[in-house]
Amino acid sequence: MALYKENYSKIITQGELLEIQTVLQEIQHEISPLFGQGKVADYIPALASANPQDFAMSVTCNDGTCHSIGVHTQKFSIQSISKVYGYTLALKHYKSALYKRVGREPSGDPFNSLVQLEYEAGIPRNPFINAGAIVVADSLVSHYKAKALSHILSFIQESADNDNIFVDRTVADSEMEHRFRNMALASLMKSFDNLDNDVTEVLETYFSQCSVTMSTDELSRSMLYLANNGTDPITKKTFITPAQAKRINALMLTCGHYDASGDFAFRVGLPGKSGVGGGIVAVVPGKMSIAVYSPALNEQGNSLLGTKALELFTTKTGLSIF
Ligand code: GLN
Repeated sequence: MALYKENYSKIITQGELLEIQTVLQEIQHEISPLFGQGKVADYIPALASANPQDFAMSVTCNDGTCHSIGVHTQKFSIQSISKVYGYTLALKHYKSALYKRVGREPSGDPFNSLVQLEYEAGIPRNPFINAGAIVVADSLVSHYKAKALSHILSFIQESADNDNIFVDRTVADSEMEHRFRNMALASLMKSFDNLDNDVTEVLETYFSQCSVTMSTDELSRSMLYLANNGTDPITKKTFITPAQAKRINALMLTCGHYDASGDFAFRVGLPGKSGVGGGIVAVVPGKMSIAVYSPALNEQGNSLLGTKALELFTTKTGLSIF
């Protein structure tokens, strides 16, 4: 298997020449019987109104070529995918000092579980469960003070090379109104001295970053720095070091889908990060980034059709890391 170098639209796999656009069409066709399975997130009204029939998939290659299908320009709530951007910024500033506050092991628990946090003295297992992302948000509030959210948003815009990306305030306000479990996580960490700032201020930042809306085209474009050792292959801007990019990819592979992370690695074989808005991003190191959107979720809160679409993509193209 190799990407056909002269033209990023084509892949050679098992001696066969495949067009990425054709692969996306096949995937859209093959997942269609699964519509109706899964359940749209309904813990806040703004997410419950998503159309379960919507589907989008975008592949952006390291040369900037983009192939998309479905509602690929439609913006949706990125939710926990934002944890990747937050962690990137925090790692850039705090380097290995960050590991004292947030670990790097899969939790094996749901994304918003409180149980482990109590017996592990307020140190979240990894930055991609809610507790971990709240600690990361706290570290960014300490670093940037009142400007934390605007720095997170600027980083997202810069990585996507697109200024037209914003926070959906209706979603953010609704998250704040239904904040109780995340507030419990934050308060528990505060009691263990693993939260430096005011709980409400940290939660405001965390909920706002979750409420950024992006399309699959924008998401796949923005993750190219992780497919290219920390440097955007198109703008040539370096966001993080190659070693940091390696670590983020490793965490996405082992922890990006909560208690379904093993299953995602087993099926898809790529670093990936999901969000309850129905999006998933995946990285093919050295080659491309892929984003999918389908709001109906499986039991672990990951897009059901999105996971299947990515599984079909790596099976058809051989573009998994294994
Ligand atoms: N905003 C959501 C929450 O904190 C994000 C969870 C997710 O996407 N898994 O509950």
